[in-house]
Amino acid sequence: MELILLGPPGAGKGTQSKLLETRYGVAQISTGDMLRAEVKAGSPIGLEAKTVMDAGGLVSDDILVRMIGERIHRPDCAKGFILDGFPRTVPQAEALDRMLHDTAVDLDAVIELKVDEAVLVERISGRFTCGKCGTGYHDKFKLPKKAGICDACGGTEFIRRPDDKAETVHARLEAYNVQTAPILPYYKAQGRLYAVDGMAEMNEVEAQIEAVLRKIGVPPV
Ligand code: ADP
Ligand code: ADP
Ligand code: ZN
Repeated sequence: MELILLGPPGAGKGTQSKLLETRYGVAQISTGDMLRAEVKAGSPIGLEAKTVMDAGGLVSDDILVRMIGERIHRPDCAKGFILDGFPRTVPQAEALDRMLHDTAVDLDAVIELKVDEAVLVERISGRFTCGKCGTGYHDKFKLPKKAGICDACGGTEFIRRPDDKAETVHARLEAYNVQTAPILPYYKAQGRLYAVDGMAEMNEVEAQIEAVLRKIGVPPV
């Protein structure tokens, strides 16, 4: 299965792609996570990306296309992948089409998670993750079952992203509206775009995505 989850920051792409990864036996690829790893490692890409990410802008197409071009050919993508956070511009979408065409792989669907802007801001400001395993949480919508202890790994350190602060969120939403939203008509013209109500509860959103996949003939493993 080759799937793209599309939506503004806070729409639930990370949450849903992690659920689908297990259900469908494919690799979840988050370009945000990949870039944060580069920043942490202090690599040349990380150094270039950091300033842009801190300001809520988009890192260059050139870097992202090279990163994805290498990533989707790794062995864990043998049964396919879910892209979370890529493509984010029309040139990225076009580059992805060329890469898939070259390897004779067909994109199954692009699923858009639709969420109102006020809800996005609330979701982003309450977001935190486990520092050890990366499991996502929310101050209001998804607290760990035992306070201060990660459900998945027992970790006790949690992280908040520097770009999740209120000042940066506005720039990120703007980047989505101006640079990323034009991808929607691009995929609509290909007949691959499906919209899902991202405002519903997490399980309900997952059920809606699975319904789309079932409809187009992609079963879970
Ligand atoms: P969110 O899930 O909140 O939308 P991500 O973790 O996907 O955020 O991305 C964090 C930041 O990493 C973005 O604001 C952007 O600066 C950078 N980034 C991630 N993916 C891309 C991409 N495909 N193109 C350009 N920049 C990207
Ligand atoms: P994205 O990857 O699109 O930026 P996330 O998956 O990180 O979004 O979700 C943003 C925040 O909202 C997280 O704290 C997550 O726990 C929470 N969240 C995700 N989906 C839902 C939902 N359907 N209802 C309520 N909160 C949600
Ligand atoms: Zn954990």
